Amino acid sequence: MGTLLQEYGVPRTHDDGVFSLYPLTNEKFHPEIERVHLEFLKAGAEIVTINAFRTNPEAVEKLIGSKDVMADSRRLTRAAVDLANNAVNQYGQLKDGSRPLVAGNLTTINDCFKPECAPLVDEAYERHSRKVQFLVEDGGIDIILGETFNTIGEAVGCLRTANEFADKSAKRLEIWIGFVCKDGGKILDGTPVRNVLRALKRYRYDAVLFNCCHATFVECALESAQTEGLGGRRLGAYCNVEYEFKSDQGSVWERPSWLDSETFCFDAMKWLQYGVSIMGGCCGTRPSDISLLRQRLDHVNAQHLFC
Ligand SMILES: [Zn+2]
Repeated sequence: MGTLLQEYGVPRTHDDGVFSLYPLTNEKFHPEIERVHLEFLKAGAEIVTINAFRTNPEAVEKLIGSKDVMADSRRLTRAAVDLANNAVNQYGQLKDGSRPLVAGNLTTINDCFKPECAPLVDEAYERHSRKVQFLVEDGGIDIILGETFNTIGEAVGCLRTANEFADKSAKRLEIWIGFVCKDGGKILDGTPVRNVLRALKRYRYDAVLFNCCHATFVECALESAQTEGLGGRRLGAYCNVEYEFKSDQGSVWERPSWLDSETFCFDAMKWLQYGVSIMGGCCGTRPSDISLLRQRLDHVNAQHLFC
């Protein structure tokens, strides 16, 4: 989303994930958000993730310092849901006659890459409850997608509240939970994936995903997950194609020249051997990447591709 928004003229106001919140606060950029969703649908995505990575009250307070943070967080989350649905309605039906799904996302309260800053279970439960409430009560989504988590504690807090609100929803909402990984079959704080899955077992969730890191880290995590077993739940993955390069002048996120769509797809297709049935792209992914992945997946009749 962010990669294309910048190409469509949305200024990059922040270097962290709060950047994606800015175009939501400015209605003149809403058509661009809709356009990004539509481009990915046309490329073959079957699920769109709303542009609400950072619409939680903490991020809203940081960006716009509003007097009524809760109301603004809810309004902006709603706007992201509406824009995704507008694009889905404009796109129409998938080949099988179904409607593309809309994933309502939420992520770490603090920095996704700083597990040392993650809240513990009870605080995570309380903080995530606010946005989960907005997503579930205001409708327009099919999936509650907790993504890019880096500790068990915060993921469990998020799952607890997602379970409670989803139970009260008239519509059956899927619950997906995703983790950013490091090498060796571990999530970012160093916890082995098998321990993560054991900790999550008692909660209702439909899929576990690994995202926002190098494809090889994702592959290690998937191998661990397959070995541990998922009790019938689905497995998903979406890696980055942009990486942070640090220099004396600061850091910049860039896509390496060698990481073209073919390379992205070559890596992604390897995930199928671990039973992955949800695939997509994270930071830096473009419609051209998804389009090629769609073609490859169509050959093997794999399921759900999302962006
Ligand atoms: Zn990412």
